[in-house]
Amino acid sequence: MKRNCILVRYGELALKGKNKAEFEDRLVKNIRDKVRRFPGVQVNKTHGRIFIEFGEQAVEPILEEVSQVFGLVGISPAIRVASDWEEIKGAVRELVESQRDAVRTFKVNSKRANKTFPIGSQEMNHRLGGYLLGMFPQLKVDVHNPELTVHVEVRGKYSYVYGNDINGPGGLPVGVSGRVMLLLSGGIDSPVAGYLALKRGAELHAIHFHSYPFTSERAKQKVIDLAQTLTRYGGRIKLHVVPFTEIQTEINKHCFESYSITVMRRIMLRISEEVAKRNGALALVTGESLGQVASQTLESMNAINDVTRMPILRPVIGMDKHEIMNIAKRIGTYETSILPYEDCCTVFLPKAPKTKPDKEVARAQEAKLDLERLIQEAVDGVEVIDLVPEQPDEELSYF
Ligand code: ATP
Ligand code: MG
Repeated sequence: MKRNCILVRYGELALKGKNKAEFEDRLVKNIRDKVRRFPGVQVNKTHGRIFIEFGEQAVEPILEEVSQVFGLVGISPAIRVASDWEEIKGAVRELVESQRDAVRTFKVNSKRANKTFPIGSQEMNHRLGGYLLGMFPQLKVDVHNPELTVHVEVRGKYSYVYGNDINGPGGLPVGVSGRVMLLLSGGIDSPVAGYLALKRGAELHAIHFHSYPFTSERAKQKVIDLAQTLTRYGGRIKLHVVPFTEIQTEINKHCFESYSITVMRRIMLRISEEVAKRNGALALVTGESLGQVASQTLESMNAINDVTRMPILRPVIGMDKHEIMNIAKRIGTYETSILPYEDCCTVFLPKAPKTKPDKEVARAQEAKLDLERLIQEAVDGVEVIDLVPEQPDEELSYF
């Protein structure tokens, strides 16, 4: 069936005034960024609706891109016709024809936004229902729980006909909530945490601590690949790679082994806060989940959080591992995350890490290090990798 347009709906009912305009403008921009690679696609906003028009192209690849845009609650591939009764009937028939074997019941839901159109909504429902029953005698009308709802929207010059809504991903358009700094390891949890922060409208920067040569170039590449995958949902992402070798070596040399993880995390947080501030990020995001490992007890979080006043968001805090894994699989980070390359935390893994570290002890251990210099050098040595969503040319080669 010929679909030449997609209607999208967006939610967050409480939005009003200036917020609403900002939300809508950002959403339109994010959709435009997503469909840029399809030539001739237009994204327009009118009266609380966003329309994506794409002429003769196939709808599926465009739908796939659009379904990754946060802030959308409903996505409907539609047939656009002139606001003319015969044309509308033709489109309605075409829509039902394409689904006749899949559905047994239907209803028609018409809206007349253009009051100069001579037929009212109720009347349209009636007439189109009768018309469809005549065309497809095997179908029945069910106004309460139809398998197919035939939507007809009569707007100005054009009218739109579409079937059941496809669910969008929900959330808020990326960018409306300000910027955050994601602590991105090569594991399963932190990419999911980043995805969930994006879902609530945060724009993402990422920071990764890399201990070359204790950790390999491949471990770093893995993190780049994970951040690259997140650009599908978040657009451009700057990845800050922090040289962490000297700090880990110093911790290993001077601090109690059982406190090495606590001290390491405290230093990671300090550096992250500094890099966040320099880049206009207002919060940190981690993949911590309560009770998952030794460093994720409440005692441990107390001892680690001690060094910063910046808010730390932990979007996966209440999730079980399998829930996090399911999201990772769905968003495409899982396969990369399970590659075996070590991350910097495993290199100097103590035999018996403290599960209930004390922050006073952590402070005393840290005092043995030349912290200020180490942190300054790490921050100055950050390598910034600018990741943008994959470009059309690379993808087109698949066809
Ligand atoms: P993940 O699956 O995200 O690696 P994890 O369950 O392995 O998490 P930890 O190793 O305790 O948990 O790390 C907790 C959090 O600390 C991570 O989710 C991540 O946000 C951050 N983190 C750990 N290692 C690094 C690193 N090398 N660079 C940046 N952030 C890190
Ligand atoms: Mg990890």
